[in-house]
Amino acid sequence: MVQVGEALDRILARAEPLGTETVDLTAARGRILAQDIAADDDLPALPRSSVDGYAVIAGDTAGALEVLEEVTAGRLALTQVRAGSAVRIMTGGALPEGANAVVMVEDVDEIDGRAILQHRPRPGENVHPPGMDLARGQSVLCRGIRVGAAEVGLLATVGCARVPVFRKPRVAVLATGDELVEPQETPPPGSVRDSNRFALMAAAEDAGAEVVWQAHARDDEAQLEQAMREGLAAADVLLTSGGVSMGTRDLIKPLLEKMATIHFGRVSFKPGKPLTFATTAEGKLAFGLPGFPVSSLVTLEVFVRPALLKLGGAERVLRPRVEVVLEHEIRPDAVRLEYQRATVTWQDQHFVARTTGLQSSSRLMSIVGANALLEIGPGSEPLAKGTMVQALLLANL
Ligand code: AMP
Ligand code: MG
Repeated sequence: MVQVGEALDRILARAEPLGTETVDLTAARGRILAQDIAADDDLPALPRSSVDGYAVIAGDTAGALEVLEEVTAGRLALTQVRAGSAVRIMTGGALPEGANAVVMVEDVDEIDGRAILQHRPRPGENVHPPGMDLARGQSVLCRGIRVGAAEVGLLATVGCARVPVFRKPRVAVLATGDELVEPQETPPPGSVRDSNRFALMAAAEDAGAEVVWQAHARDDEAQLEQAMREGLAAADVLLTSGGVSMGTRDLIKPLLEKMATIHFGRVSFKPGKPLTFATTAEGKLAFGLPGFPVSSLVTLEVFVRPALLKLGGAERVLRPRVEVVLEHEIRPDAVRLEYQRATVTWQDQHFVARTTGLQSSSRLMSIVGANALLEIGPGSEPLAKGTMVQALLLANL
């Protein structure tokens, strides 16, 4: 039985980015950047007005300035501003030669083609100098970051219309169990609906993976073996659920042993002790996840998600960690590190954690609405209300 940190180390040591591809800017959101990106030019390239107003020479003492022309965004001035003159200019317009300041339209009276300034500007007033937003050659985005809205905007700004990104890891999901029926079916006595297959597919996609294969197999050795081989052939990562503990129909471990090298088969972890991790000769990853719905999702969150992110080229693969105050007593597991589901809120200058209720491995309602996993070390004494513990943040608070 390995400890959580050791298990994660063994997994991440065998997960390397899978390759790169190029996508259109409109398809780049959510992808992981595969190259550093630099600015191709100064922005702005020319000094530019930041307001609607009049371009003038700061220090010009003339009472009324002759308005020579109008400059709108995207058009350059034809004339040069000299003492005694001004150019009407719109936001984003390039500053005419000679001018070094812009007075806002609200501070100017224009009468019969003459501008009367209500205040005398200082040099540079309302002017964005070249390179103020971006300097040519400046690194703007780093390889390994996830592309969001601001990054899409920056990529467009620097002319990166085809975006180099890491390839998404391809995932195969196999649910196992004689008792499973499809979600649209009414389970006969003794059966349950297959929830893991769908939850695991969703969680894998949340972690940047692409689900390319999915199936349900019965607890039959030949059927399981064929399904597992198919899944591994189709994908970079195979996730199985169920059949991995100590029961007589738990066939996943011996089958993984046949087709891959097992790196661990038990983790000192709750919920999900029987988690099994193996790699094939071609370097594909296989995770035997436990069958209980909460165990399979929490083991995916703690162990598989970082691997999927790393395979997908992400620089940051671990959830942010914060200290939280317990709103109530918590009873730790006697021997295993436990990840309890909770909702964390900001109250009176602290993050405060409240449990999602009964932490049973079968109770999916203990994850619904949770935004944190509390990391509770093993012990025999309850942790009192007010105790500080560490939490992995699963969502923005
Ligand atoms: P197992 O480890 O295969 O013995 O499964 C443990 C428990 O999880 C059993 O109660 C199973 O019915 C349940 N279980 C296994 N796979 C699934 C699944 N795909 N969806 C919902 N429950 C499952
Ligand atoms: Mg089973």
